[in-house]
Amino acid sequence: MTPVHCLHADHALVEGVWRTDVRVAVGEDGRILRVDCEVPPQPGDQPLRDRVLLPAPANLHSHAFQRAMAGRTERRHAQRDSFWSWREQMYRFVGRMTPDDLRAVAAFAYMEMLETGFAAVAEFHYLHHAPDGQPYANPASMSAAILAAAGDAGIGLTHLPVLYQRGGLAGEAVEGGQRRFAHTLDDYAALIARLLSQWQHAPADCGLGVAPHSLRAVDAEGLCMAAALLPDAPVHLHIAEQQAEVDAVLAATGQRPLAYLLDRVEVDHRWCLVHATHLDDAELAALARSGATVGLAPITEANLGDGLFPAVEALELGQRWGVGSDSNVRIDLAGELRTLEYGQRLMRQARCVLADAQRSTGRLLFDQACAGGAAALGRRSGAIAVGHWADLLTLDRHAVDLCGVDGDAWLDAWVFAAATPTVAEVWSAGRQMVSAGRHRDRDALTRAYRQTLQRMTRA
Ligand code: ZN
Repeated sequence: MTPVHCLHADHALVEGVWRTDVRVAVGEDGRILRVDCEVPPQPGDQPLRDRVLLPAPANLHSHAFQRAMAGRTERRHAQRDSFWSWREQMYRFVGRMTPDDLRAVAAFAYMEMLETGFAAVAEFHYLHHAPDGQPYANPASMSAAILAAAGDAGIGLTHLPVLYQRGGLAGEAVEGGQRRFAHTLDDYAALIARLLSQWQHAPADCGLGVAPHSLRAVDAEGLCMAAALLPDAPVHLHIAEQQAEVDAVLAATGQRPLAYLLDRVEVDHRWCLVHATHLDDAELAALARSGATVGLAPITEANLGDGLFPAVEALELGQRWGVGSDSNVRIDLAGELRTLEYGQRLMRQARCVLADAQRSTGRLLFDQACAGGAAALGRRSGAIAVGHWADLLTLDRHAVDLCGVDGDAWLDAWVFAAATPTVAEVWSAGRQMVSAGRHRDRDALTRAYRQTLQRMTRA
C-alpha cells in the first residue's frame, strides 16, 4: 500500500522515546505505515513546525448524554447531597432525550473530546429505550444515534451497550428513569446480535464490546452471559465507585465487589473495571494479577464525591489504568490527569506522587492514559508505531507555558500549567479533525447542540 499522507514534526514521542525530525506515513486505511526519525521533510509532507507530535489517547469511559447536564446539578437538594441524589436528577433529565437529541449531544461531546486530545472514546451506553421504557421500533435506535454522532465528530468509537437487569442487589424491579436502561438477558443478546450486523457497515476503527452495568444492576448469570457474548471484545463494568455500593454488595453477598466478581467470572485483559475506587489491599493485588485495566474518571469522581483510587499502591503493582470523561461535566484530557495527581497529593501531603525514577509526573500520567485507553477500547493505538491507528495530537510549542522546556517537561507544562489551548492538531485513525485547536465542524455541531439543549430545557 502506498502512503497517502505524510506528517513531518520537529519533535515526537516515538515508542516512548523523544525524537527529532520525525516523518510519519499514514496509509489510506488510517494506520501508521512507516515512522522515520532524524530525517528531513520531503515534498508534499504536512509540516508540523513548532509542534510536539504525540500519540492521542483514548477516552475509556463516557456517558455522552450526560454532557447536556454539565454544570446544571450543582444546587444542593438534600442536607447531604451525594452521588445518589445526583443520580435522581440524572434520571429525571434523561426522561426527555430522543435519539436525535442524543446524536446532537453526543456529537458535541465527541467534538470536545477531540479538541482536548482524545482520538477515540469508549461509550458506556445505557440509554436504550423510549421515555416510557418501551423499546423503540428499532431497539438499537439509540446505539445508531451514538454511531452517527461518532461519525459526525470523526472520533474513533468502541461502543459498549450496557446490560441493566434490575434495580438493585435484591433483584428489585427497575423503576422510573431506570426503565429506559433495562433488558432481559434474551433481549440483550438480541441487541448485541443486531448491532454486530449493523457494525459491518461502521468505519473500520469503530468497535463493539459489552458492558454489564454494575454489580447492583447485573446478577452473576448476567455477568457470565454478557462476557461470553463477544468472546474477544472489551468488557467494561462499574466496579466500586461509592462506599455505599461496596457496603451493599458486602451485605448482599458476603464479599467485597472485586472479590465477588473474580469468584464468578474470568477477568482478564479484555476487562476494564471503571471506578476501582474502593479496593482493599487483597483486591488491588488480585486486580493487578488479572491483567484488567482500571478506568479512572478523576474529574467526575471529584464532582460526584466518589473517593480516591489508591494509585500509588496500584502503580507499585504494575497496574494499568487509563482515564475517561465519564459524566462529561468537563471534557479535558489534561485536566483528568492533573486531577488524578492532585487527588493523590492532597491525600498524601506530597508532591510529584505519580512519577518514577525515569519519568516526570506529566509523562507517567500521559503514558498510562495511552496504554490504558488502548487496552480498554481494544484499539491498536497509544503509540506512534507501525500498524497502530494514526491517533495523533500535537502540542503547540508557541503556547507560552511550553516556552523554554523540552522532553517530559512539555507534558508537565501541558498537564499542570497551560491555561491557553495547547493542543493544536488531532487526528483519529488518520482523519484530521482538529486544526489550530478547533474542530473542523465546530460551528455546525455547536449550533445543533444549542438547539437541542434549548428544546430539552423548555420541555
Ligand atoms: Zn460511568
